[in-house]
Amino acid sequence: MADDPMLKFVGRPQAYPAKRPAQLRAEDFREIAERYAVPDAESQAGRCSQCGVPYCSVHCPLHNHIPDWLRLTAEGRLQEAYQLSNSTSTMPEICGRICPQDRLCEGNCVIEFSGHGAVTIGSVEKFITDTAWAEGWVEPVQVGRDRGQSVGIIGAGPAGLAAAEYLRGYGYEVHVYDRYDRSGGLLTYGIPGFKLEKDVVMRRVDRLEQAGIVFHRNFEVGRDATLGELRQRHDSILVATGVYKARAIKAPGVGAKGVVDALDYLTASNRKNFGDAVPAYDDGSLNALGKHVVVVGGGDTAMDCVRTAIRQGAASVKCLYRRDRANMPGSQREVANAEEEGVEFVWLSAPEAFDGTEQVTGVRASKMRLGAPDASGRRAPEVDPGGALQMPADLVIKALGFEPEDLPKLFGAEELGVTRWGTLRTDGKTMMTSMDGVFAAGDIVRGASLVVWAIRDGRDVAAHMHTWMKARAKAPISAKRE
Ligand code: FAD
Ligand code: SF4
Ligand code: SF4
Repeated sequence: MADDPMLKFVGRPQAYPAKRPAQLRAEDFREIAERYAVPDAESQAGRCSQCGVPYCSVHCPLHNHIPDWLRLTAEGRLQEAYQLSNSTSTMPEICGRICPQDRLCEGNCVIEFSGHGAVTIGSVEKFITDTAWAEGWVEPVQVGRDRGQSVGIIGAGPAGLAAAEYLRGYGYEVHVYDRYDRSGGLLTYGIPGFKLEKDVVMRRVDRLEQAGIVFHRNFEVGRDATLGELRQRHDSILVATGVYKARAIKAPGVGAKGVVDALDYLTASNRKNFGDAVPAYDDGSLNALGKHVVVVGGGDTAMDCVRTAIRQGAASVKCLYRRDRANMPGSQREVANAEEEGVEFVWLSAPEAFDGTEQVTGVRASKMRLGAPDASGRRAPEVDPGGALQMPADLVIKALGFEPEDLPKLFGAEELGVTRWGTLRTDGKTMMTSMDGVFAAGDIVRGASLVVWAIRDGRDVAAHMHTWMKARAKAPISAKRE
């Protein structure tokens, strides 16, 4: 019997694709690691112990068939691995790049617990579908038989795009409305290229467009149509608008020039890398070149800002976070990447005031300490009376997270129910909002979350919308089509 290619985790060490040297990667916005070469991918996939109850899949929001596509990869059956991997995910190569695997699949891999180091699931997942694109195995979307019904999707982020793909597959006419000039949501304008190169997103969008999905770009619901008007055009609507209201800092001087919002800063950088004209980048307002930069926050957005500032040629980059390293929300892997690239973390510190009358010149901060656990179980930070800090700053980036905008008001739809956090209220079973035929998915329902959860929601909501529309297929359709 031929040697089984699996269960090699004892003698074969864990090996992620090599990262480029920190100094080199800080000079551009390319991803920091190349993808595996074929033998390395096969060899790393072969470390999997093929668990009967695969905790990796249990903790993957998409419940991907991880052990099965790892085996197919280890056996060199890459095209089959690709087909299986794509059967549960509309964007596996994107999740392979940007999921916080240390908290999801890899963090729950049994060989991680046995001290051997998790199977490098995300890197293999990225390798499989990148190879499929390179080899021409990625098929067009299989469009279902025309059902004579149409769907309007508001928001072209991962939730909206995933739902669009499934709904087109079911045979609906699909229209995607987005206020931006490019599709992809935060995949395109939030997440920097060094985590997710933009051609990886754009080829997914192109594939959807080739399947006949109609993209209405620069179309803002609330400005170009009310929700009610859009509802009249389609048999059902999906709201997948994400969360965009930046959490504020309340401190003297926060209004000074040079104190900016994280998403404005990251969007300007991403646009510049697309080759767009970005006056606020060119005039220096949203450009870190030569500046002392202070980023406030400890999540993924803050990590993306500090690492963007390094690539723009900042004189120094500090990250202020009110808890310690062990209690930060951002991925430890991203902190390590940022430190390698030259970012200084000032743990247990929170801004108290911003110096400078017109233009910010510095940040005054309090030292913090961790007190008793709060309602969420995390130890709450409190001011440490013994400490104060002062640091120079020409650019301060506020990265404290995001909340939902006031959608009922923005959409001219006061009947749209929201939770006390401002997220859309949906029926847990059907994912429908308080408006008949209007569904919702992604961050606008969950609050700021992850791409993989947005894709999962897109998959689920498409199935619910399909059930709902099928039941109404023969009823007289009041909707008028464009
Ligand atoms: P979004 O991606 O926000 O897309 C919503 C879309 O709706 C946007 O295109 C927007 O233009 C459009 N829209 C909004 N309002 C309107 C309107 N009125 N009319 C028309 N269109 C509208 N997650 C990870 O898993 N890994 C990461 O590494 C990661 N890094 C992140 C880095 C940053 C800087 C940020 C901000 C988030 C990050 N996330 C990450 C979170 C992730 O990006 C989101 O959870 C995910 O994109 C949510 O998907 P969505 O489709 O719900 O919304
Ligand atoms: Fe892991 Fe994310 Fe891929 Fe699931 S989608 S297997 S959590 S990288
Ligand atoms: Fe393989 Fe780890 Fe998943 Fe087990 S938990 S099936 S070892 S990847």
